[in-house]
Formats: sequence, structure tokens, C-alpha cells
Amino acid sequence: MDFDFHHYVDGCWVTPEAAKTLELCDPATELVRCRVPLAGAEDVARAVEAAHSALARGWLETSVSERLIYLHRLIAEIENRRDQFAHIISQEMGAPIDFCKAHQVEASLAHLRGFVDAMTVQGAIDTPIADDPMHRVRYEPMGVATLITPWNWPLNQIALKVGAALMAGCTMVLKPSELTPLTGHLFAQCMEATELPHGVFNFLIGGAEAGELLTAHKRVSAISFTGSTRAGQLVAAAASIGFRRLTLELGGKSPNLLFADCDIATAVRQGVAHCFRNAGQSCNAASLMLVEDGIYDEVVTSAADIADTYHADLPQKSGPHMGPLVNRAQFVRVQNFIENAIEQGARCVSGGAGRPDGLNQGYFVRPTVLVDVTPDMNVAREEVFGPVLTIMSFRDLDDAVLKANHSAYGLAAYIQSSDAHMANEAARRINAGMIQVNGNSRALGAPFGGTKSSGLGREAGIWGIRAFQELKSISGLSLTTEA
Ligand code: NAD
Repeated sequence: MDFDFHHYVDGCWVTPEAAKTLELCDPATELVRCRVPLAGAEDVARAVEAAHSALARGWLETSVSERLIYLHRLIAEIENRRDQFAHIISQEMGAPIDFCKAHQVEASLAHLRGFVDAMTVQGAIDTPIADDPMHRVRYEPMGVATLITPWNWPLNQIALKVGAALMAGCTMVLKPSELTPLTGHLFAQCMEATELPHGVFNFLIGGAEAGELLTAHKRVSAISFTGSTRAGQLVAAAASIGFRRLTLELGGKSPNLLFADCDIATAVRQGVAHCFRNAGQSCNAASLMLVEDGIYDEVVTSAADIADTYHADLPQKSGPHMGPLVNRAQFVRVQNFIENAIEQGARCVSGGAGRPDGLNQGYFVRPTVLVDVTPDMNVAREEVFGPVLTIMSFRDLDDAVLKANHSAYGLAAYIQSSDAHMANEAARRINAGMIQVNGNSRALGAPFGGTKSSGLGREAGIWGIRAFQELKSISGLSLTTEA
């Protein structure tokens, strides 16, 4: 299938200059799916200029209620295209259609609704300090924002950034992953339908080169990047040159601590499911299960049995199965992790290298459980980004915390225990941005992000919006004076 890709710049659909293109394959069949034009220097310059001009044309001065009108329209546009989004996401990155409908699309809508709530309750542009009417803090838009997103939750990541930048009063250039350009294209159509003033939202199809140009552009004041830690480091270096505001949402190796007093059956079932969700291609996947010595054997047996019930199948088929990984590079990377872990002494109790039975083409991986893993093995420290659960034992709380903090990442951690004091102590001592206890998910609008190599800053809710705003302290004038 070929698709007539366009950038969306200054309110118009623009034919890409595209000296370079990228061939994309269907993750389930490996057949060529489309050829994607990659934005170059001229495309980037035009998009940033459009965003910059739109600031001066008045977007900078919009009120909270004006911004909310467009956000409500965006939510309605996505709601109207729920099925279309689900099919496109499934086709592009391989997640099964039911998963895309229930999670990929709905998660993005939830974040956008979270921004509505945050703006309505906490979004005031001027806030008095300590009830002193003569002293206030003003939240002003940073200006032009560069938004760069990955392919694994393609609509969700776009919604988190565009919704927040829009509510903050910024103008923006969105560059989604070159691996999921159709999702970005459909999102840009939704933005067009909101009838935002021209230039407030601009969209480019491109890869790393466009990303680099967008992060280095002198007119850009804020950069929000979600992707690999490797690319995040390059983005951080570019951002430092102009002292640009930076939000980085990067990789993870999130530990899931199972203490002996937890509800073992529930903890293992949920732990396996969390690791295998989206075929393991989630930054916050609970990919490292840390198990207290006394329940280790029981957990290993149970995790293997549960993993054996998972199966992979075609993305377009209805059902709770797992789809393929996004592309060949990701497939090879995950195979290498499994083989390397076994060579280093890990025991494979479910799955293993190679494709699942009956699937001879496509980037399908066997849901895999590796046990008796030690902290020095690559699979215990690095992000696999595939359906590979790694299990390691711990002696006591101190040992659990040490092992949980061992990797360079600090995105999320999961704790299973019926002892609230123990869980609280572990939550306090683990170095991560998000901690979930006994399967309780984050509240809508709670901050999303990590520490160490997992990134800088937070997305979602009011924290996501404030990431695109500059704080100005004004004293000696009351709000009524200004009005
Ligand atoms: P990636 O780093 O290869 O690409 C991400 C985006 O960055 C793409 O749009 C790409 O074109 C662009 N890019 C690549 N190099 C760039 C550069 N030098 N300068 C500017 N832009 C550049 O990552 P990916 O493979 O698309 O995504 C998977 C990674 O994203 C995983 O590591 C995953 O953990 C991470 N991720 C993190 C979160 C989070 O919230 N922490 C969420 C989702 C994904």
C-alpha cells in the first residue's frame, strides 16, 4: 500500500521536499508497506518559522478558556476516529487490534481529559503567592516547542505532548516516529479539524535528521522528547546549547518486587501480564521480577506456567494474543538478548529464541521467562523492549532495594506486599519516578517520568503542562490593577 504523505505546516498540507525516504515493512508479514518521505532542513525551517510567527499573531496571549475550546474539539475528533486510529496503530506497529482499541487509543484520550481537568482546576495563568494579592506567579508559555515521539504507544505519546504544549500556550512542531507516520498523519488531520489558528500546530514526517534539526533550531524554546536513552543524550546536548527547556522520557528497566507476604497468584499473574503488555514494548514494562528467596521456586513455576498460556498471532485478529515486534531491528535485538542471557547462565523456563510455532514470517517473538539471572547479566540491566521477563531472587529488603536500584534506569518500580510498612519503606528507597503498590495504577493526571537514565521532568496532568511554561514572579501589582 502506498500513501500520499504530507507535512502540515502553517495550516496547509505541504508536499515534502524529501530527498530521503524510508521503506517500512508490515511487522506481521515483512512485506513492504509504504515508503515514507523524511523531512529535511527546508521542511524543518518552514515548520519552525510557522510556529514562531503564530506566537506573534496572538496565540501567546490566549486565555485558559480559549485553549480549552481547542482541546475539547481535539478530544471529539479523536473519539470520532477511534476505530481508524486503532486499525492504523495495529497495522503500523503490530499491536493486536483489540489491544489498540482498548488501550492504545483510550490511553491517549484519558491523558487529554486529564489535561482538561488539570487546566480547569489548576491552570490559572496568574496565581497569588501566599494569599498576597500584591505578589503573584505568572505561568507564561515558553514559545515554540519541539515535540518528538516514539512508535511504541504512538498516539498516546503524541497526545501527552501536544495536549500539554497547547494548554501551556505554546506553538509547536510535532515530529512523530518515522516508523508510525500514519498515526501522526491522522492525528494532524484531527488537529486541522479543531480549526486552531494557522501555525500553532505543525507536523513533520521525518527521522533522526529532522529530530536533530528541530532540537538545534534557535527559535525553539522547549523540547519534549520521548525515545531511547541513546537519542535522549544527543537531544540533551543540543538543548544545552540554547539553554532550552527540556523534558526527556527515556528507557526503563523497571523492577517488580515480590515480597514473601504478597498474594503470590495475583502478583505473578499481574507481573507477567505487565511485562508482556504491548509485546514488552513499553518503557515502564515490569521486566525485572525480584522475588524474595522463600517464594522463589513457587514464583518461577507459576510464571513459567502463566507465560506458556500466552501466544502470538496476527495483529488484525481479534483476541488477547500478542502481536509481532515493530521491525526487524527490534526482532534481532530481542533474539540477541535471549541468546546472550542463556549463554551467560540464565535458565529459560518458558519461550526462548526463535519464532513461535506456526509463525514463519513476521517479527514475532516467543514470550520468554529467564530465571536465575544475576545482576551482572545484560538482561538484568538493559532495556530489552520485548516480551522477555527476567527473574532474580533477593534475601531481604536491603538486598531488594540494592537490586532494584542496580540498573542505570529509574522509570518505574512495582511492589507487591501485604505489609504496608515494608512496601512504604521500599517505595521510599527505590530510585524511580513512579512506584505502584499491589497493582494500583497511577491516578489520571499523576506525573509520568523517571530518574537517572530514564529522563528529566514529568509529563501528564498539570506537571506536563507546566513543563512548557516559564515562571514569572510579579510583586507590587495586584491582579485587578493589571485588569
Ligand atoms: P528512538 O530514540 O530511536 O526514536 C524516538 C524518536 O526520536 C523518533 O521520533 C526518532 O525519529 C527521533 N530521533 C532519533 N534520533 C534522534 C536525534 N538524534 N535527535 C532528535 N530526534 C531523534 O526510540 P524509539 O525506538 O522510537 O522508541 C523506543 C524507546 O522509547 C525505548 O527506549 C522506550 O523505553 C522509550 N520510551 C520512553 C517512554 C517514557 O515515557 N519514558 C515512553 C515510550 C517510549
